[in-house]
Amino acid sequence: MNYKTNIDYRKETLIKLLNNVIIHEKEIIQALYDDFKKPEFEAVLTETSYVISELKDTIKNIHSWAKPRKVFPSILNFPSTDYIYKEPYGKVLVIAPWNYPYQLALCPLVSAVAAGNQVVLKPSELTPKTSAVLAKIISKTFHVNHVQVVEGGVEVSQDLLSQRWDYIFFTGSVPVGKIVAKAAAVSLTPITLELGGKNPCIVDETANLKIAAKRIVWGKFINAGQTCIAPDYILVQKDIKNKFVGYLKDEITAAYGSNPKESGDFARIVNSKNWSRLASMIEPEKVVFGGQTDAETCYIAPTLIEETNLDSLIMKDEIFGPLLPILSYESEADIHVIISKYEKPLSLYVFTTNNSFAKKIIQTYSFGGGCINDTVVHFSNKRLPFGGVGHSGIGAYHGSLSFDIFSHKKGIVKKANWLDLTMRYAPYNNKLATI
Ligand code: NAD
Repeated sequence: MNYKTNIDYRKETLIKLLNNVIIHEKEIIQALYDDFKKPEFEAVLTETSYVISELKDTIKNIHSWAKPRKVFPSILNFPSTDYIYKEPYGKVLVIAPWNYPYQLALCPLVSAVAAGNQVVLKPSELTPKTSAVLAKIISKTFHVNHVQVVEGGVEVSQDLLSQRWDYIFFTGSVPVGKIVAKAAAVSLTPITLELGGKNPCIVDETANLKIAAKRIVWGKFINAGQTCIAPDYILVQKDIKNKFVGYLKDEITAAYGSNPKESGDFARIVNSKNWSRLASMIEPEKVVFGGQTDAETCYIAPTLIEETNLDSLIMKDEIFGPLLPILSYESEADIHVIISKYEKPLSLYVFTTNNSFAKKIIQTYSFGGGCINDTVVHFSNKRLPFGGVGHSGIGAYHGSLSFDIFSHKKGIVKKANWLDLTMRYAPYNNKLATI
């Protein structure tokens, strides 16, 4: 098993993985449905087809990504040829969340394998059906000493974190991200932390309100709002607020019908604990649309909430569910007060046809990434780095960047012997005077 140095071997195992994920695609879609009623269309769009595309892209590019890259040499080293060599870190631990339990587990794993590492994947215990199929696919594909899945909850995760790793890739919540960072600090293990945050979505008076409503409703309620880059709250210009809320209501009904509980296109909350957390955020007098809940089936309707109080429970932390608070602003100063109250978010969205306003927002606030006039879709472009900043994460991945984060980059100068300039050597005598 020569995954460390043999790139053809790595490629063969990824081709095998590709075949197995295709064979088991239906099983994964069923498992995602069984875990939290993820609609088939969303399962294909955001999980299985995404993984297949990631694998195809990695298989296609693995040789060029792995190749030592020649860089322009420094004149001080003349004559030399300079390279960046990519070396696998060694043993990589990937800890995955439950909300996109297939894609967010396999994509980092694929890149870690492509870069020549040994991998242990710890999927989420909250989506056990999906984790079981994942474990089956991995054990069918890889030798256990190369890649393996270790299933389990917090204790298993903490046990893994207490071991020595060469790299840890964690996707999950901010509090657990801090636990991972502390564990990694003990042995100075490099980490990527893909976390979350309170993602603002600004709508100004020049925006195309109908399109904005459609794109916000899709990005917010896909996966029942359990998406790290979902818009967390809306900041809408005061004069257009009522009109815009009307469009949001129309779009929710158009997408999920008059009773979203009966729609096959709307997922459930992953478990009772998360359901209770979300249900407790609903203050009935502030609900302007939706608000229905059912504890038994972990259902919460797509809900619009008119909010004015930044101290309310819903405005405290990342919501991570189908509740959308709508706040209004009069001036850019109001926007500033609200966004600045929170840690740097994972994403930010601005809907406007005023280019200078969009540019100003993008340049004023620090956040992981985002969109102008859309939501969530920046995730899908492999040429864009994906990751947070500050509390929303450390490091970014996707595309060739994913290969790079799982590789240590060695800078190498290859010196020629046909010339040996003597300037740097002792005795230094009066050399400074001659420069
Ligand atoms: P989580 O932090 O609760 O769990 C993530 C993983 O950590 C799971 O595998 C879990 O078993 C493990 N874990 C939980 N508690 C632990 C502990 N005390 N010690 C060690 N390991 C522990 O997150 P989640 O609920 O699965 O996912 C939701 C969160 O993840 C949200 O905050 C969301 O924004 C974030 N998220 C971020 C991204 C991203 O790409 N940035 C993607 C998806 C989700």
